[in-house]
Amino acid sequence: MDASAHPQWHNDSGVAALDALESQAEGLTSEQVAARRGRFGENRLLEQKPRSVWRRLASQFHNVLLYILLAAALLALLLGYYSDATVILLVVVINALVGFVQEGKAEAALRSIQCMLVSHCQVLRDGRPHTLEASELVPGDVVILAAGDRVPADLRLLQVRELHCDEAMLTGESVPVAKQQDSLPGDFPLAERRNMAWMGSLVTTGSAQGVVVATGMATQLGHIGNLVATVSAPVTPLTRALTRFGHQLALLIIVVSGIGLAWGAGIMGLAPGELLRVAVGVVVAAIPEGLPAVVTITLAIGVQRMARNHAVIRKLPAVEVLGSVTVICSDKTGTLTRNEMTTRTFVTAAGQVQLSGEGYAPQGLVESNSPAALEIFARAAQVAMLCNDSHLNQRDGQWVMQGDPTEGALYVLARKAGLTEAFRQQCPRRDELPFAAERLYMATLNEVAGQPMLMVKGAPERLLALCDQQQSGDGAEPLNSDYWQQQLERLAGEGMRVLGLACKVMPSMGRPIGHPDLEQGLVFLGLTGTTDPPRQEAVTAVAQCQQAGIRVKMITGDNPRTASVIAAQLGLRGQRVITGQELSALDDGQLDQVLAEVDVFARTSPADKLRLVERLQAGGQVVAMTGDGVNDAPALQRADIGVAMGGKGTDAARDASAMVLTDDNFATIAAAVREGRTVYDNIVKALLFLLPTGLIEASVLLVAVVLGTPLPITPVQILWVNMITAVTLALALGFEHGEPDLMRRPPRPPSQGLVSPLLLGRLLWVGALGTALVFWQFSRFAETDLDLARNMAVLTLVWIEITYLFACRRLLAPAWSDLSLTRLLPTLMAVLAVLLLQWLFFVVPFMQTLFASRPLSPAFWGQAAAVALLLLLAVEMEKWLIRRLRSRRHQRRASGSPSP
Ligand code: ADP
Ligand code: MG
Repeated sequence: MDASAHPQWHNDSGVAALDALESQAEGLTSEQVAARRGRFGENRLLEQKPRSVWRRLASQFHNVLLYILLAAALLALLLGYYSDATVILLVVVINALVGFVQEGKAEAALRSIQCMLVSHCQVLRDGRPHTLEASELVPGDVVILAAGDRVPADLRLLQVRELHCDEAMLTGESVPVAKQQDSLPGDFPLAERRNMAWMGSLVTTGSAQGVVVATGMATQLGHIGNLVATVSAPVTPLTRALTRFGHQLALLIIVVSGIGLAWGAGIMGLAPGELLRVAVGVVVAAIPEGLPAVVTITLAIGVQRMARNHAVIRKLPAVEVLGSVTVICSDKTGTLTRNEMTTRTFVTAAGQVQLSGEGYAPQGLVESNSPAALEIFARAAQVAMLCNDSHLNQRDGQWVMQGDPTEGALYVLARKAGLTEAFRQQCPRRDELPFAAERLYMATLNEVAGQPMLMVKGAPERLLALCDQQQSGDGAEPLNSDYWQQQLERLAGEGMRVLGLACKVMPSMGRPIGHPDLEQGLVFLGLTGTTDPPRQEAVTAVAQCQQAGIRVKMITGDNPRTASVIAAQLGLRGQRVITGQELSALDDGQLDQVLAEVDVFARTSPADKLRLVERLQAGGQVVAMTGDGVNDAPALQRADIGVAMGGKGTDAARDASAMVLTDDNFATIAAAVREGRTVYDNIVKALLFLLPTGLIEASVLLVAVVLGTPLPITPVQILWVNMITAVTLALALGFEHGEPDLMRRPPRPPSQGLVSPLLLGRLLWVGALGTALVFWQFSRFAETDLDLARNMAVLTLVWIEITYLFACRRLLAPAWSDLSLTRLLPTLMAVLAVLLLQWLFFVVPFMQTLFASRPLSPAFWGQAAAVALLLLLAVEMEKWLIRRLRSRRHQRRASGSPSP
């Protein structure tokens, strides 16, 4: 039973394959599994080797700034300025190390999140279906495939029902291949072995059972050396934009400082050595070299926080896009509702049946004042039990439902009617038409007391259109459409999910069933009314989204009336509902109109979802769209953020999505949007911090050169300040939590660039004020003691950066709003680190030689801090002014008077 020793599985019959693998149709036994586990290992592809530490470290030096610095260090060495060369090299090494460590942390965070998305599969073991992680499969296991699954190992197919697989990742062929179960004698290439399903391919339609012939690296996918990709350093549109911005900035800096220095050399007669030092100082100071590290760490923290809140990011750019989402299109069932379905009532042609009991506990009374209704209900219960793939298990006294909740509710209904699991065994299923979102029904062919019975359940409208008869107390009678329409409206009007049940005696068992079989002789049994209340947290989340300027739209396959009632309970505009059918009749212009006014779309198909996404995007919206089925994949891919359900979703939907909800909860999307906005805010804050402080450092040198005054801070001292502050202080901003008003602001326009008027303004005036303050501190002592004056200037500059950091923690709110210690912790730690380093700068002997520094008394420290506080106050006044202007403008707009 060695898979690789027997590559021609397609030659054998299914039975022979099972024999060869020492397995059986009802799956392996637990003992067999235990014995094979050790022999075959885990069913996993090996991971690609991650980049080696050296490669990663080396990549840190691959950066324009570092080239400039290395060149400068070399030049300094050649000219004999050894201490300058040392400091420059130190800057280079520390920069690279910080980048290296941060990138490593970010990669580790992303990797741990990727592990959260394990793939599950359905397996028969000991004759019962189990849901397992795909890694637990061993050769001989019998796997059940359904539409949307990734094939978890190489399989020899045993029973095939309309199975089609997309094998593009193995063969490059993008058209799904139809599968079969019969043996194929002879030699065939992989793509033509139609009785095999290959690991990694995707089930597009149909269902099947197959026996595992190879796992892990022994599979065909393993043979072609297809390894699981490892996570690499995050690159997103934003990081790319920042890199581009960084390059432009560098160019600008080089040009401006070039002019300044030429002036210094030409007019002021600066020596070439001095010129080199100043040039290096200016360039290093002005370039925000801390930015890539901040962005990386900010993204990683955002992704980590989202994962903790049950939103797993699969495509990193999603993090930024989340912040600009303007419309969220959400599923109803399970996402906006609790997905705890309890069937309360069953309506027959002869009256109504009531069911008591809560949740999935199969205990409750069945009551009716019509004996005929109870008789019909007994028949309907058979359909509910047999046309059903869910299971109920008791674990620690709790009833746990396995499968689709819609079906779970029907299973419980059947149990309340007195049917048991044994009944399923007595009425084996011979064939089935699985549920599909386009058809809205499911049918099975069962042998009930020796009689072939077609059992159907699905959307009432669909079934009523198919049936021409209804079940009465003593037989079949012509269908009374008006009656059912009324009953359907009544149940749906109470917000219940309504399902129809029908059945038909088939002439023979032998033939597989098809959709035409449903078109004649189907007898309608009745309607189930099932409650599925809205999630409380979804109600809150919808309100939050609306406050944040994000429209929420419900797009459901359910009945329009039900959808409307649930929508109203959630706080959506539910009065007008558009159905999939009405949608198809609208042209694009009409649809755009409808999209502006309507929030609820019912009885939609996956194709409708795709069209809705496209029209919304055409109207300039940034769309998040949820989905779970195979056919949702195109809409999920097309949306700006495809959101898949981790619980009930298929692998196909997950693969097409940028984000996966592990709790299938709408509130999680709202939380992720908030986190996405936080990430963007934090990056903006980092820019607001890094650019003006860099400008102060650079202009302290440049202004002195241009004016021909003594340098208030020497170039090596600037290198020092830049080095200790850039990589510590700005990083703290990456840890900031969202501001309280984050979800009261409108979404950020996606076209909005990074360079805002706020940033430009800050850059100019904070740059100027900071430089002036440093010059002033310097001038107080310059006459008497040049070194002391410079030390004071350095200390003032460091304090300015620290106080300015506190200002940058809040975009417009006062720096002192929300000073809780836990939130302040990263900032405080960064500040402490900087102060400690700065103290070492003054007291360590070799630093004293390198930087011409000496210990400063506490009075000096205090004076420098006090001067820096002036800058903080000035920034706070600016924020106050902007806040006032904004609220004025707001009031003016609210009171209706024309705004300028
Ligand atoms: P939603 O958009 O609310 O998640 P679904 O796509 O799950 O709705 O279902 C749409 C409709 O299909 C339901 O209203 C129901 O009538 C029918 N349906 C859902 N699940 C099943 C099933 N397992 N078998 C038969 N019909 C179903
Ligand atoms: Mg659904």
